[in-house]
Amino acid sequence: MNWDEFAHWGKHIADWGAFYHKTLRDRPVRAQTRPGEIAAKLSASPPDQGEAMDAIMADFEAIVMPGMTHWQHPRFFAYFPANATPPSMLAEQLVNTVAAQCMLWQTSPAATEVEGVMIDWLRQALGLPAGFTGVIQDSASSATLSAVLTMRERATGFTGNRDGLSGKGALRIYCSDQVHSSIDRACWVAGIGQANLVKLPATGPTYGMDMQALEAAITADLAAGHIPAGVIAITGGTGVGASDDLQAVLQVSRTHDLYTHLDAAWAGAAMICPEFRDQFWVGVEGFDSIVFNPHKWLGAQFDCSVQFLADATPQLNTLKIEPEYLKTTGDAVTNYSEWTIPLGRRFRALKLWFLIRSYGLDGLRIRIRNHVTWAAELCDGLRDMDGFEIVTDPILSLFSFRCPGDDAAQQRLVDAINDDGRIYLTQGSFDGRKIIRFQVGQFETTRDDVMLARDVIEDVWRQVK
Ligand SMILES: *Cc1c(COP(=O)(O)O)cnc(C)c1O
Repeated sequence: MNWDEFAHWGKHIADWGAFYHKTLRDRPVRAQTRPGEIAAKLSASPPDQGEAMDAIMADFEAIVMPGMTHWQHPRFFAYFPANATPPSMLAEQLVNTVAAQCMLWQTSPAATEVEGVMIDWLRQALGLPAGFTGVIQDSASSATLSAVLTMRERATGFTGNRDGLSGKGALRIYCSDQVHSSIDRACWVAGIGQANLVKLPATGPTYGMDMQALEAAITADLAAGHIPAGVIAITGGTGVGASDDLQAVLQVSRTHDLYTHLDAAWAGAAMICPEFRDQFWVGVEGFDSIVFNPHKWLGAQFDCSVQFLADATPQLNTLKIEPEYLKTTGDAVTNYSEWTIPLGRRFRALKLWFLIRSYGLDGLRIRIRNHVTWAAELCDGLRDMDGFEIVTDPILSLFSFRCPGDDAAQQRLVDAINDDGRIYLTQGSFDGRKIIRFQVGQFETTRDDVMLARDVIEDVWRQVK
């Protein structure tokens, strides 16, 4: 393909994108395909001769699109949102076009410097004190792994990377039983082990870590000769939005000199609204590491996960490596690849710059506030429905419910709703029971979209009960 053809197809795809988004409401939210159906339509072996772009694009529309679940659909109420706002998408096209590797300052000074400023814009937007720095990672999973590795190194006097972990004793990490599976995996990969991830019961109105249980676990571990290394707190857990009492977590952590990481992957975006900080984030400035995903609720498309650090030194002491071929000369600069596990990095900050300038913080806040208001309204609507039970009340824009019947009945309803296609919901579990989750966070969702969910749930329920 030459660059003239690239320009032609680039315009075509931009037009296609606008059409796609304008007609999204009319499509079923979840793909209505069976396993293997799409693969069977693809050529089983690669072509020897190049093909025309017309044919490739036609197949994209005919074969690929019917197999897509529409994460940008205004009635996507499953999992958590994954907003790709227009300014963010345009920035990504520019990033794709320039296609730079932004591992060192020198390998694209603008990428590093825009990233530094965007981290600071978001720091201010989230009400974190000056002094916090940070880095953009691909995902919260990577940021949490970086934090867990830092806990490990700090607790072993920064000897784990050098000597390995054998003979070091059991390093212990504490969290509630509401944490995301990325915390488990970080502990696996860091060599800490699932058995040393101590999960404490969640209690109270926001399902926070039981503080007495935390204190007791640490005391028992010290008595057993284990090495407490860190605490991972959450704001807005994946299941039901569980949120820890941050001040209480910090108090215990400080007493035992533990490194603290806060997973606010989803809910962090809402903290651009001061009223939600008052509700969920009192004390947040005491954390060593905080992760939140602008690629969920804020409008920057995947991937874009921000990790804030009160002091970057321990993480740099954990991850920085400088072989000769990566050395640069000159003034002191930030080389962000030293802050993370992968070396290569995309220019992710550009979409934040486009996004925040285009909407302004107020434009982003209004959407988040609307989502929270509408979720509460829908929750009240379902509460009034015969035999339906609200299992967990809204935390921000997430709540969970059950229809009458056993766990199998919940799954039947979820599957039937998703086959219907007007809305998309997913299940979860809480207190040993299957629940149906509802969250709203898509940028183009209207109040009518949310209210329609009640009608669809009632309608499909009548059909399957
Ligand atoms: C989505 C989510 C994660 C994982 O985020 P990735 O960026 O996909 O790794 C972790 N924790 C919470 C609370 C989440 O909502």
